[in-house]
Amino acid sequence: MRHSAEGWWIEEAGAPPPCPRLHGPTDADVVIVGAGYLGMWTAWHLLARDPDLNIVILESGLAGHGPSGRNGGFVNGYWEYVPSLAQKFGAERSIRLAELADEAIVAIGEFCKSEKVDAWYKAIAHVEISTSPNQDGDWREAMWGLSRLGIDDEIVELTPDQVAQICYSPEFRGAAFKPFGATVQPARLAFGLRAALLARGVKLFEESPVTEIDQHGDSVTVRTRSGRVHAGSAVLAVNWRTLRWPTFARELSVASSHIVLTEPVPDVLEEIGWVGGEALSDCRKMLHYFRTTNDGRIAFGWGGGRVASGAKHDPRLDLDPEVIEQTASTLRRFFPQLEGREITDAWGGPIDVAPNSLPIYRTSGAVHAGWGFTGHGVGPSNLGGRILSGLALGADDETTRCPLVEPKVKYFPPEPARSIGGNLIRAALIRRDEVDARGEKPDPITTAITKLPKLIGMNLPR
Ligand SMILES: Cc1cc2nc3c(=O)[nH]c(=O)nc-3n(C[C@H](O)[C@H](O)[C@H](O)COP(=O)(O)OP(=O)(O)OC[C@H]3O[C@@H](n4cnc5c(N)ncnc54)[C@H](O)[C@@H]3O)c2cc1C
Repeated sequence: MRHSAEGWWIEEAGAPPPCPRLHGPTDADVVIVGAGYLGMWTAWHLLARDPDLNIVILESGLAGHGPSGRNGGFVNGYWEYVPSLAQKFGAERSIRLAELADEAIVAIGEFCKSEKVDAWYKAIAHVEISTSPNQDGDWREAMWGLSRLGIDDEIVELTPDQVAQICYSPEFRGAAFKPFGATVQPARLAFGLRAALLARGVKLFEESPVTEIDQHGDSVTVRTRSGRVHAGSAVLAVNWRTLRWPTFARELSVASSHIVLTEPVPDVLEEIGWVGGEALSDCRKMLHYFRTTNDGRIAFGWGGGRVASGAKHDPRLDLDPEVIEQTASTLRRFFPQLEGREITDAWGGPIDVAPNSLPIYRTSGAVHAGWGFTGHGVGPSNLGGRILSGLALGADDETTRCPLVEPKVKYFPPEPARSIGGNLIRAALIRRDEVDARGEKPDPITTAITKLPKLIGMNLPR
């Protein structure tokens, strides 16, 4: 098994040759820091708002080589959040947010079509499966909440027999069927987006880490070690590295997610009946997510990676053999038909965790920032790009007024309490998931720790 930081998707997609580094001074209407999905979709939507804009993107490494090129490729929306959002923002605004997220899913497919980007975009349902009695009906609170708002078709319950028709595993029970979603080959999407932006005249400088952002009056200067960009506004789209900017750092914590990939096993997929390409996950607190590839492999991920301390790069965010071993062992338990078949690749990456699991968009002077996808950024980053492009141009529209902009959320505690507490909660959640899987009850201390986030007003990820 090859265990790398960047993983198989990037290799399969074939990384493009790098763009030059930034040297010397230059000007822009908008300078974007970070060339993952969020930064690149922001550039895309800026051009949709005004095709003549002069846009510069500064990327510390290579565009699309971070989580945007390594993720599970699930393209999801926000329907499950609507009932709880409705209590805060009202039904109309919350439903509209979910519709905007669905528009983003469609927009990604349209982008692939119009730009001839073969990102394996497939409109397909997400099936969230119970794998233990304690997970049964985990989706009902959201489903019933939606039903009370008159929405009955965004989460539909499936019986174990119906689940077995989609994919058979001895571990699978009932499920929630979420019809509206898609899957992509994530690195192909990132590189396709990069190419489309370059073709439209966006200036991308790679291997150009931003060290400082200075604000003066209503403009900004963004500096790298060897150059600087003077612009009307700046967009900060650096995922977990937002922690380096104290203005935004208190609403962010960093965990990680990791994926293992099998050799091509089309015969196994045939045997278990998983031939429709549905995006599957379980209902653990630290969830497993799994999908197939175009060449008949299974990509199987786990959101149970460690919590990191501060903005320092803990190498285990990318490479964590212990987490990979656990992930591989669950894959083999879910699909014993894989016996004797090889797991060829493993990789991982950081997850930007927001206090309420939803991304946050904020403005400070002429700097506009977005972060906190909490493991659900593939579809939502397209909407994020719409939002940030509007904020950067001073637009007042339904995206810049949506509930994700300037939300009131709880602060995470400062370091070291943030990461120590985070890892304590992570360990308790994993313990609880394991006990749950055996159909047993967790001990009172584990239960108490897992309830902590909710008690302090946080809705931590699954
Ligand atoms: C293993 C894994 C599986 C996942 N699976 C899914 C999934 O199936 N579905 C889903 O919706 N989400 C998933 N996610 C989350 C999703 O990948 C992210 O939410 C999304 O890619 C975030 O995009 P981004 O542009 O914010 O961040 P990134 O892709 O991290 O891009 C940020 C960029 O900023 C650059 N940068 C950082 N600091 C600086 C600086 N100082 N100067 C210049 N550039 C800088 C980085 O190099 C990076 O390229 C997964 C994540 C991981 C790690």
